[in-house]
This record gives sequence, C-alpha cells and structure tokens, in this order.
Amino acid sequence: MSETMNTFEAQQQGRLTGPLVHGYEVIIGFETHAQLSTASKIFSRASTAFGAEPNTQACAVDLALPGTLPVMNKGAVERAIEFGLAVNSHIAERSIFARKNYFYPDLPKGYQISQFEIPVVQGGVVEFFLETGKGAEVAREKKAVRLVRAHLEEDAGKSLHEDFIGQTGIDLNRAGTPLLEIVTEPDMRSSAEAVAYAKELHKIVTWIGICDGNMQEGSFRCDANVSVRKPGAPLGTRREIKNLNSFKFMQQAIDYEVRWQIEQIEDGHAIEQATVLFNPDTGETRAMRTKEDAADYRYFPDPDLPPLCISEQWIEQIRAQMAELPRVMAERFVRDYGLPEYDATQLTQSLAMASYFEDAVKMSGKKSDERQLAKLVANWMLGELSAQLNARELTIAQSPLGPEQLAAHVQFVFLQKVANPKALFKVILEDQAGPFGTFDEVVARFEQLIREKDLAPMDDTGELEKIVDDVIIANAKNVAEFKAGNEKALNALVGQIMKVSKGKANPQQVNDLLRAKLAS
Ligand code: ADP
Ligand code: MG
Repeated sequence: MSETMNTFEAQQQGRLTGPLVHGYEVIIGFETHAQLSTASKIFSRASTAFGAEPNTQACAVDLALPGTLPVMNKGAVERAIEFGLAVNSHIAERSIFARKNYFYPDLPKGYQISQFEIPVVQGGVVEFFLETGKGAEVAREKKAVRLVRAHLEEDAGKSLHEDFIGQTGIDLNRAGTPLLEIVTEPDMRSSAEAVAYAKELHKIVTWIGICDGNMQEGSFRCDANVSVRKPGAPLGTRREIKNLNSFKFMQQAIDYEVRWQIEQIEDGHAIEQATVLFNPDTGETRAMRTKEDAADYRYFPDPDLPPLCISEQWIEQIRAQMAELPRVMAERFVRDYGLPEYDATQLTQSLAMASYFEDAVKMSGKKSDERQLAKLVANWMLGELSAQLNARELTIAQSPLGPEQLAAHVQFVFLQKVANPKALFKVILEDQAGPFGTFDEVVARFEQLIREKDLAPMDDTGELEKIVDDVIIANAKNVAEFKAGNEKALNALVGQIMKVSKGKANPQQVNDLLRAKLAS
C-alpha cells in the first residue's frame, strides 16, 4: 500500500485530504491507551485480571508502600516491541522511564511511571481504507496515519463514586496495569477517518495478541485531539476528548466538538486548550479542566528503574516468532489469489475471517482453479454471508455456515451445478441437518437439497430450445425491436425465458441461443 504515503505529502503541499465543514478543515490526532495482555502488572507481581473485588489485586508495590521498588515486566516490553514491528517503527535500543508527577487519590505514589523523552517505540505508520459516500457513490481511499511514538506506562487506580453516599471509594486493582500509549501525528482530517484509524489500530493490537481489545472494560481507549482551521492557516488550538471507548461515541464526540469549535470561532471566541469529556446521554462534550503542559508534570527519569535496553538479537527473535500481519497477509492474498486489494483488506479484518477464507478456498476445488474459486469465496463471504452475520449480530466464528459449507456452495456455483446460487445459499443457511464431519458429507447433503428443492440447472438443451422458440413466437414485438437494433429488447426476451424455465436455465446459454436464433 505504498501510495498511501501521499496522504501527508498532499497535506504538506497544502492540499486538502478531507472534507471541509462549513469552510473549515478538521485536524485530528489520537492518543490511544492499549492495555497489554500480561498476566501480571508492569512493575509488580499482582494480577491484571478484570472484575475482581476491589483492592484484592494490589500488592505493596501498587500501594506504593515505603521501601518497595518496581521491577520491569519483560512480557510488557515484548508486547511493545511486537507492536513496533507491526507498524514499522524504530525500536529504541535504550529507552528511559520517567516520573510524571501529579496528585490524584487513585495514584498513591503521587506520580505515574511513564516514558517521556525517549520512548521505546518511535515513529511508524498505520494504513487503512476509508470509505466515503453511500450506495453506488461509495469510494474507497487509502489513508496512512503516522505515529509519533508508543511508550510504556502504568495505569492508575479507579475512584468509585457510586455506592458511597457523599464519599469516594478507591480501588487500586487497576494501579500498575501495563499500558502502551500510542500517539499519532495530527494527520487525520475527519471523524470518519479517525474512526477508521482507531478500528485499524484495534485490529492490529488484537491480531498480534498484545491487547484483548475489550473496549467496554477499558482495554482500548482513545483520546481524540481535535482542532479546526481555515484551509492554509496554521494549526488551530486543540481540545482533547478523553477516554472514548466506543467507535460510535468516537464519531459523535468528534462531530459535536468540530461543530462547537466552529461556532465558537464564528462567534468571535478563541478556542482555549482544554481536556473535555463526551457525555453519551446528551451527545455533547464538556470541558473538564484546562490542559496541563508537560512542564506541569515535572517529568524526570525514575531513579528506581535502569534504562530499558533492547538488543537487536531480542528484536529479531521476536520478529521471527510473530504471526503474519494483516497487511502482509492482505498483500499475499492479492499476489497469490489475484484478489482486488479491497477484498484482501476486508478478508483480513480478523484472523478468524482470514482463516475461514483460506480454509474455504482450499476445500472449494482444484488448485488450478484457485484464483477463480478464491474470488467466488471472497464474493460470497463479503456479500451474502456478511449481510447475514450483520443482520444476526454474529461474528464469523459464530457463523451458521462453516468454511466447509461455504466451500461446497462455491464449488456448486463454480461447476454450474446449481441454477440459482442465491436460492441455494438461502436453503443451506436454513438447513438444520449436520453437523457434518467432512467436506464430502456437506457436498452430499447439498446434492440432496438441490434435488429436493429443484435447484438443479436445466441441462437438457432440447428443452431449453423449445422454451426459446416459444418465447420468440409469443413476443414478436420485442423480436422486431431487437432486429431494429434495440439491444434492450433482448433483455426482455431473456427475462421471459428465465421465467418460463423457473430460473433453471443458464442465463449465458440463453443469451447465446437467443442471439443465434435471432440472427438466422
Ligand atoms: P500532549 O502530550 O501534551 O497531549 P502532544 O504534542 O504530544 O501533546 O500531542 C498530543 C496529540 O495531539 C498528538 O496526537 C498530536 O498529533 C495531536 N495534536 C497536536 N496538535 C494538534 C492540533 N493543533 N490539532 C489536533 N491535534 C493535534
Ligand atoms: Mg495528551
């Protein structure tokens, strides 16, 4: 996807890469906290499991008891490296942990251990497709968002306001949970692009397995920095919408914020840098506090932790163990199966989806027909099957049709053993028989269904020829129109023939036969 690099080249040249809103350009940069999927915390042995009784998973280190010292969790570093490799970042040979000082009741140390000047992951890029427009007008644009950095840090505890009338409870279970904070350049130009970026990032971290991606539980939460400007003007002042943990709210929050900022500017007010919260009940953003600057946090290197040193050898060892990345897999689908890039991207939305696709292709027929079969599998997966899964709110793993069924269906379509593929698809979707042990059993069952539901194509050309002759005689007007040069009249005749054959004739064969007869 190398052309995507043009996104910021275009921006550099002052070209717009997103829609204007009331004459303003929208600028968005993201900071995302991905909770790393280690069993224990980043600097202690306490468990990171979600949902335990308050304060049952906080040890002396998490409570900041005097005399305790942090010890780096190697698994957290490994996950940060995996992320860096997945997005083509530079992995720092030597990075530094720093204390970010602030007071908060759920932060017993009075500082958060983070990385400041030298983060472990530096640079990188996230590439994805952005769909714009609707229906027939839909266009797909390749986008690329540059990463500034991704750094390791610990999470804070939680303040509990419910259940404590007039008081606040503190739960330190989350204190010390490992986070990777992933920061982008201000490259995004619309709420839709921001959501597409967040979805892609979510896909990457879950695909490589460094984060469970559970947004309700806060394992993946985004802060959206938003500003607006007149095209060509310098960057405007940003406001940061904190802790967006649903893609839907993300879009709503940014759209509201953009409208609000434009209104302020049009009314002659300056935007003040601030941290804001989105309220899903009102659909509005509201200022929480004016924004601190880095200087307010009095960052300094944490004397309790040595520099984090990562050898080239360790990086290569991790690289060798990593599963094929979605981007690389998509490129392989294009190369090996001849799929359009868009199909390949859609099929690599999740590992489950990609495996389903490859399994189905393998079973669906001969290696020599692989490319045609792959396109058919892709079409049925991204079309009819996806529509069914969406309607039933199911994931591919919960699909009523396994790869065996889809492969068998595609095989029947490819070998033209079924007159109406859509009708067969419906039938197999509703079929309660099974589960089937093997692909051959599935094929046998489909053959039975095709017989029962009378879905076999008409293979008797004599029978078809008779229908064609009858239709030609009965539709003299259309015949005359076609002979006078009106191509559309032919479609009417084909339609008639298909109807008489109850959809069992092969449309191509009908077309050929009809043309031959009308030419003579
Ligand atoms: P801080 O660490 O204080 O939040 P950064 O300069 O690191 O500040 O920026 C944080 C995020 O804000 C980054 O994702 C960056 O891309 C984004 N950002 C910076 N300036 C703007 C702006 N004018 N409009 C929108 N986003 C911005
Ligand atoms: Mg910030």
